[in-house]
Order: sequence, then structure tokens, then C-alpha cells
Amino acid sequence: MSSAGTRAPKAWAFHTKTHSTGISIYDDVIDSHYSYNSNVPNSQQVAPGDLVVIRQDNFVAGWAIIQSIDVTPNCLVMLTRCPACRSTALTTRVTKALKYRCGRSSCKLEFGEASAVLTEELVTNYRACYPDTWNEAAVPQRRQTLENFTTVKNSQNAIRPLDGERIHNLLTVLSQRTINLRSEQTALAEAEIIGGFKEAMVLRRRGQREFRFRLLERVGAECAVLGPQPPQVLEAAHIQSFATTGKHDLDGGLILRRDIHSLFDAHLLTIDPKNMQVQVAPKLRIYKNYESLQSAPLHLAEQHHPKREFLEEHFERSMETFRAS
Ligand SMILES: [Zn+2]
Repeated sequence: MSSAGTRAPKAWAFHTKTHSTGISIYDDVIDSHYSYNSNVPNSQQVAPGDLVVIRQDNFVAGWAIIQSIDVTPNCLVMLTRCPACRSTALTTRVTKALKYRCGRSSCKLEFGEASAVLTEELVTNYRACYPDTWNEAAVPQRRQTLENFTTVKNSQNAIRPLDGERIHNLLTVLSQRTINLRSEQTALAEAEIIGGFKEAMVLRRRGQREFRFRLLERVGAECAVLGPQPPQVLEAAHIQSFATTGKHDLDGGLILRRDIHSLFDAHLLTIDPKNMQVQVAPKLRIYKNYESLQSAPLHLAEQHHPKREFLEEHFERSMETFRAS
């Protein structure tokens, strides 16, 4: 299930509810994967390469492009069904005497725990994985905003199709930068050809912490752009997408303060490979602390400068982002 196949990528809204205990219904770690089963409408339509916008309760949490889908057939689950139409699309009401309301528009039956039909069935469990493509929402957007982009107005469904033609507008608002979905999806497809994501995901989890330690040992607690900083705010950044290279190459890594890292990943801040000077997106220059970084030299001894050829792709893509915003 890891090949994107030939169909055009689709766009989906995934909905996850948080229980009052703070634990979501499935085992979701929403910034890396989303789990569902074959009873969920549209579950079989979702494929790697598709865009997903994740709604958690009342807010849009972020968006991602699916890298792979784990499939586990023949899992036994207990299902609660409507006694009239057997639908599993039920609304649970905490405050009402009758706990359930059938979500099927032709039924809408309200019924209590005692009359609910419980069935045991075999389902296929799916886990859509996107650990390297997650974009956390930069600004809060309410669920109503997402409704403007859904093509099916039934908020009970966990997976709903989105209007693929317009969705980049929502992503641009969410991420506060201009999103070109085609280039995001092309980057993903290229990375898939080169590495194979399953492996990359495991490597990243195994290696990321060590990568940071090794870079910190090499350059000390210094942000490459800002100079000395508290180590708690320093992160290891990959100059090239880790998904593309599948390697934690120290010569392709930079220690950056968390905010600088975010701007670097968003291609709103880059390093000119010709002179190793910082370049800041025009739209960021209204902020004094970022404006002052424009054309600043790197805070790195020459022997620790990143490889020029590693910077070129990042620089080119950032120039595109600078022009678009
Ligand atoms: Zn019903």
C-alpha cells in the first residue's frame, strides 16, 4: 500500500475527537498518523499521496500528505448499531436520557443503551502515516472554516472528501505561507522513489536525537544563525528534507533555535550558498528581530559550514517562496 499508483491525489478531512480524559478515540498521534477502520465511510478511498487536513475537536490541527498506509486485516471489534437501520454512524449524547441518535438522515432514531444492537465483526484497520510531511497549523482555524471546503455536509463522518481545487487556500491560511500543493506532492513522490518511506520513518525515530547530540558536540550550544543560545531551544535541522536523503549527514545538518528552524523548514529563511549569508523573506522583515538577520554571516567556524551543494536546493526553493509571499 505504499505506492501512490496512477490516480490523481485526493484531499480529505480527518476528524478526531478527544475524550474528556484527553485520549483520542483511536491511538492517534495526530502529527504523525491517523487510525481508522473499514467501517468508516471513504476508508477504502484514501491512498498514499493524498492530502489530509486533520480536525481535532473544534479546531483544525494541521495538514499533511500521506506517505504510507499500514493495513491490518481481520481485527475483531465490537460495534454499536442503530436498532432500526443498523447504521454505526451514531451520535453519543452525554446529557440526554436516550444516549444515542442515529446519524443516517433517513432514520435519525433516538435510542438508549438497552436497545442498541451490539455486533462483533472483523474489520480491516488502517493507519495513514505522514510523520515527515506534517504541517502544524500556525494560526487557529475553527471547524466552521473547514466546512467551507468539504464537499459532503455531514460532520458525523470521520473521513470526508475536500474540494481539491480550492484547498490550497485553506492550507495557505493555516500555514501562513503560500502553499503550492503540486510541489509538495512532487517532493514526496521523488522521495518515495529514492528511499522508501517505511525505512526513513524508522531511521528518523532512531536517529534524530543522536543527530542533534552529535551536531551539538561538534559546534557547541550555538544556533548557526543567532550564535550562543540556551540548549533547550536548539534543534537539529536537516538542510535537505530527511525524507529525500534518508540520511542524518552531519554536513547536511544545522543547529538552529526552534523559531529559526521553523522558518527554515517553511523556506522563509535560508542561507545563500555563494556567500554563506542569511536571507530573510521580505514578509518577515516587518519584525525587527528577523529583519536584523538579513545578510548576516553564519555563526559557524569555516570548517563547520554546511556543504554548498546541500544548500542550493533549499536556497532555490526559498527564493520561490520569497517571490510568492
Ligand atoms: Zn438508524
